[in-house]
Amino acid sequence: MNILVINCGSSSLKYQLIDMNGEEVLAKGLVERIGIEGSRIKHDTTGKERVIIEEPMKDHKRALELVLEAIVDEKYGAIKSMDEIGAVGHRVVHGGEDFSSSTIIDDEVMKAIENNIELAPLHNPANIMGIEACKELMPEVPMVAVFDTAFHQTIPADNYIYALPYELYEKYKIRRYGFHGTSHKYVSQRAAEILGKDIRDLNIVTAHLGNGSSVTAVEGGKSVDTSMGFTPLEGLAMGTRSGDIDPAIIPLIMEKEGLSFEEVNQMLNKSSGVLGISGISSDFRDLEIAADEGNQRAKLALEVFANRVKKYIAAYAAQMCRIDVLVFTAGIGENSASMRELICDGLECLNIIIDKELNEQASGKEAIISKNIGGVTIMVIPTNEELMIARDTLELVQNR
Ligand code: ADP
Repeated sequence: MNILVINCGSSSLKYQLIDMNGEEVLAKGLVERIGIEGSRIKHDTTGKERVIIEEPMKDHKRALELVLEAIVDEKYGAIKSMDEIGAVGHRVVHGGEDFSSSTIIDDEVMKAIENNIELAPLHNPANIMGIEACKELMPEVPMVAVFDTAFHQTIPADNYIYALPYELYEKYKIRRYGFHGTSHKYVSQRAAEILGKDIRDLNIVTAHLGNGSSVTAVEGGKSVDTSMGFTPLEGLAMGTRSGDIDPAIIPLIMEKEGLSFEEVNQMLNKSSGVLGISGISSDFRDLEIAADEGNQRAKLALEVFANRVKKYIAAYAAQMCRIDVLVFTAGIGENSASMRELICDGLECLNIIIDKELNEQASGKEAIISKNIGGVTIMVIPTNEELMIARDTLELVQNR
């Protein structure tokens, strides 16, 4: 069966068409600037040259129409007709407490996703637009929602309840939800597979380090704690997000700098993190170059980032009593050998001992990078959220 995976942002849409016999990507692409001047699609069919389609797209429906046309195009398409799409898997950011696994989309599910808009005001509405557009354009094709939060619904209450008045949880569902669940699930499962072990026997810490970053403790295949919280702002220092800070700083900067709630929110999400510390960039490649050239603030930003990751790894080692596997994934985790080394440096007390040579050689591919002396197995595993979404979709559609 061919499955179309859709990931909608407010003005973007990423897609992949995957043939599940062999899990092969047939086509993929990115639509940018939906509803804004200059909309375009970068479309790649495997084995063919990339095409750029520049056409006005007033909404997600029009974008999806053009994506479907590209997929079935005689010259640069991947399949002959839309009938060859067996199901659609949608990434949905927030499932709140309603969803602990992926689910076939029906009216009730749509209502629940809508009810969770308050928890993800920027993301869920875009995800809903994508689902609605697909429903209109291919009403007969079954659709599945795969939630970023679902994998973390196994986190126990002592890890998801904040030390705030309990009524806030009851009234507004303020608690830790966690994000990047599809990625943490995929890399933890893949780690067990590569090692030929039953995931139920493993304690794994997964470090998803990208533009947004989070660390998760996966005990016996289940998420038991994660660094992102009620929103993706908590936890690690990120490209532009502050991660953990003393909450008392917020009213102080609002008063001193005369900032509104909206402005302070913007500051914490968009101009903090390693960008805020360095004053240069949120991109780790830029920071590594600047640090090598002697820029002290770039160096400090990288050290703050690494230290925060280290703290979470150590906290999760304590929570699970032991770590068997540490996985690095996403843009930084997969590609930055120097950041992986900086993070592991000093964690020898937890038996986390990196092999510098193996680490240097590992880039963008699956690899084991620990010294083979019986300690924690350190791995690099490229994440594949689209494949995980397609697998969940296939399973649910086949078992309908
Ligand atoms: P997103 O959260 O947008 O999916 P990614 O997982 O693609 O993010 O990660 C993007 C980040 O990965 C970039 O901001 C960049 O800092 C980092 N990155 C990518 N390649 C490298 C590299 N070779 N060295 C260091 N950092 C890298």
